[in-house]
Amino acid sequence: MSRQETPRPIRGTQDIFGAEAEAFAFVVETFERVRKLYRFRRVEMPVFEKTEVFARSLGETTDVVSKEMYSFDDRGGESLTLRPEFTAGIARAYLTDGWQQYSPLKVATHGPLFRYERPQKGRYRQFHQIDAEIIGAGEPQADVELLCMADQLLKELGIADGVTLQLNTLGDADSRDSWRVALVAYFQSCRHELSEDSQDRLERNPLRILDSKDPRDKVFVADAPRIDDYLTPEAEDFFSAVTAGLDAAGVEYTRMDKLVRGLDYYRHTAFEFITDRLGAQGTVLGGGRYDGLMESLGGAPTPAVGWAAGIERLAMLVGERDAAPLDVAIIPLGSAAELHGAGILATLRGHGICADMDFRGNMKKRMQRANNSGASVAVIIGDDELAKGVANVKDLIGGDQAEAPLVDICDHVFGLLSRQGRSIPVR
Ligand code: ATP
Ligand code: MG
Repeated sequence: MSRQETPRPIRGTQDIFGAEAEAFAFVVETFERVRKLYRFRRVEMPVFEKTEVFARSLGETTDVVSKEMYSFDDRGGESLTLRPEFTAGIARAYLTDGWQQYSPLKVATHGPLFRYERPQKGRYRQFHQIDAEIIGAGEPQADVELLCMADQLLKELGIADGVTLQLNTLGDADSRDSWRVALVAYFQSCRHELSEDSQDRLERNPLRILDSKDPRDKVFVADAPRIDDYLTPEAEDFFSAVTAGLDAAGVEYTRMDKLVRGLDYYRHTAFEFITDRLGAQGTVLGGGRYDGLMESLGGAPTPAVGWAAGIERLAMLVGERDAAPLDVAIIPLGSAAELHGAGILATLRGHGICADMDFRGNMKKRMQRANNSGASVAVIIGDDELAKGVANVKDLIGGDQAEAPLVDICDHVFGLLSRQGRSIPVR
């Protein structure tokens, strides 16, 4: 019988392994630690929602809704969509699950998202984000808190140096509307010289022209009307409070008065953390205030602000990382020694020591692997040792080796580890 062909993975998905997977885990672990420092509560959200959750929150004219969603009819004929972002689902839950009672609510989550995009470095069809939102707070201090948290996260990941915070305000609804009218009038006057995409955006989503990478658009974007000329006094005060808060907290930023975000729901603060170390996919973290979103889902007006960052892009900046080093390798000879080894493993691991014993192999092979894995201690249980009720505890850093009774072998291992400068987590 001919061998069956193995199915290929889906284009734009990734199987993440090894040093890249360690970098990915480091990003998530660091995020978890930082979000606890800021007292953001963890939420777990469904991977799919009714299509209208995204269509109504993000707006039909956005790239995500018009071109990028994975939508399908389920067996009951209902249109569902794999989440392309977290915010809309969290907003839906806030309304359907009575989370209003916790307002102002600080929540954080992470997981996979799905967008039908052209796969390339830093851009996938299934990708992953960490996400933080504050719902029910209209105060600029909420914007400041989220930006401080993002800033601290990048510092703790060790990647803050190559990344800058670009900050803008889109003003309140009134500011944004009058700015939009001015932008449409301005771009109308040069409409035929714009890229085809931007001519199309002029009808559907004129703010997005400011975001265009096309050189034909860039010449006109440079002289486009500026939001600062359309800000209401309230919107101006709000933005001043945000920048004052950032200054007080020592968070550096660059004002970018052409920065807009792709989604319709943004108001006031909009921001991105950008790097030039990832080529075209230079935005690692983006967010802003979305005071209009809850109403589009049928809720009462509810101010909110949040951000999301691509885990893959953060992990690429972090670079490849090694797995945590092995502390203790157990090296048994024969099945009786293996059973002793199993007991020692359980005790060491129970005390928070990273220990391992290969499933197979002769002593030489096992010893080689222990050395390659960077273990600092080996416990060798050979025939002769077993007969005497002892094992050999070998210092793989210093090279010394000493016999110790099996009954208190773990104490010897703890002693050696602490002489090597390793602190033993006691349970
Ligand atoms: P871009 O301009 O790169 O398309 P975006 O504005 O669509 O980004 P957001 O919706 O703001 O991105 O998502 C926040 C972050 O999620 C991005 O800054 C990026 O790090 C990450 N991200 C977005 N889309 C993808 C993707 N297809 N693959 C990998 N990461 C992504
Ligand atoms: Mg995008």
